[in-house]
Amino acid sequence: MRITPSNKMKISIVDTRNIFGLKSINKDLNGSYGTQDYFGKSLISKIFEKLRAKAVFLPHLTSVYVATILRAQGHTVNFYFDQIPKNHYDIFIIIGSIVDQKNENKIAGELRKKFNKSKVGFVGPFPAKMPSLYPNADFIIDGEAEAFFLYQFNDFNDLEGVLKVEKLVNMEDLPSPDYSGFPFKSFRYRPILNQSPMLSIQSSRGCPYSCGYYCTYPTSQGKKVRQRSANAVVNDIIFMKKKFGMRSLLFRDPIFGINKEYPFLLSDQIIKKNASIYWGIETRADLLTKVNLSYMYKAGLRSINIGIETNNIEIAKKNKRKLIESEHQKDIINYCNNIGIKVVGFFIIGMEGDTIDSIRNMIDFSLNQKTFIARFSVSTPYPGTEYFDFLDKANLLLNKDYQNYNQFKLVTNQGKLRSIDIEELLLEAYKKYYLRIDKISSLALDQLKSYLPF
Ligand code: SF4
Repeated sequence: MRITPSNKMKISIVDTRNIFGLKSINKDLNGSYGTQDYFGKSLISKIFEKLRAKAVFLPHLTSVYVATILRAQGHTVNFYFDQIPKNHYDIFIIIGSIVDQKNENKIAGELRKKFNKSKVGFVGPFPAKMPSLYPNADFIIDGEAEAFFLYQFNDFNDLEGVLKVEKLVNMEDLPSPDYSGFPFKSFRYRPILNQSPMLSIQSSRGCPYSCGYYCTYPTSQGKKVRQRSANAVVNDIIFMKKKFGMRSLLFRDPIFGINKEYPFLLSDQIIKKNASIYWGIETRADLLTKVNLSYMYKAGLRSINIGIETNNIEIAKKNKRKLIESEHQKDIINYCNNIGIKVVGFFIIGMEGDTIDSIRNMIDFSLNQKTFIARFSVSTPYPGTEYFDFLDKANLLLNKDYQNYNQFKLVTNQGKLRSIDIEELLLEAYKKYYLRIDKISSLALDQLKSYLPF
């Protein structure tokens, strides 16, 4: 049952990212634990970091949904991302993440001091797992914030301590995301979706795959898949196009199309309701076929992020990852290239069992995959996952300075890999992949085309 809190309040949602100029942080990624791009200290590393920060600025989707829900309840909601709120609000909600935890807690302290009658609290899976790292919080929401504000939140005085959310959100109860007050014209996901304004949405949550052993999505969203109907999603698209002039859309589902009928249903509805838009998804290659791809392409699908992770079957097994059959993966990538869908390959280095040789082998493998671009990251154990618990118990965590848990630094002590090896191998992967004449020219051409008016 939905509730409507009786007192109308002034609420501000705060993202500390830009307040501290940390534009390489993305708090929506990685199951909302967040990531921070860091390629090392060399000149070329800094260039990679700058390029990535210029290319990608994603909305924090939970904040958008929470703001929409609270406004529908009659509250006034403002969003701050590049300055600390200076005026009084009844409630300050700070977006919590693993990568910016210290700054987040510091801002909470400043707000509490200045507005001592207000409540200052956190949303996000990391503060919920590690509440002791947020001593300045009045409250921390432990569970989906959308569900809390839809089904539980009733009174200002409820906001105290760790607030356990009793149930997961029913995807049909989510409102169409209303980006009013968010810097929606600045959100971007280049070079994957070049058309701005680029906004994001979720049509499903949850992932049942065994790689939830190390991945944060099942930890933050659960293993059971919850689906929003194609009809509701297409209404969302129409709303966002009309209200914000949206020209491209990123689905932030952890595994789009796990329900095999869904890509067809959604594509049909997009075409039928004349809601055409360029869109991108993230999924596994074994859920893709030439048939569903050509169907989705007709409805505007233009990019797919696929987790490839590793090419080493033994390492995949050790990390409880089911590898995709390599011929099928190749076929799908080639087909996407032929029809005009960009494929982004995600690879992980430093997985349990990795060695310098296996990582180099994986880097060479990535060069032959013909993906449009690639993202390499360092295997990172997150509090709340089995992987983290295993390493913690075995005393194999190098440190618990969580700002280093950013997917770019080694924080585990496994085998013979040292931090310096990982840093060098990560940069080697990016250099080998991107500093190729054909890659540079195809990316430059793609960007050039995106600025042409036809
Ligand atoms: S399939 Fe993807 S989203 Fe699901 S658990 Fe594995 S890595 Fe995470």
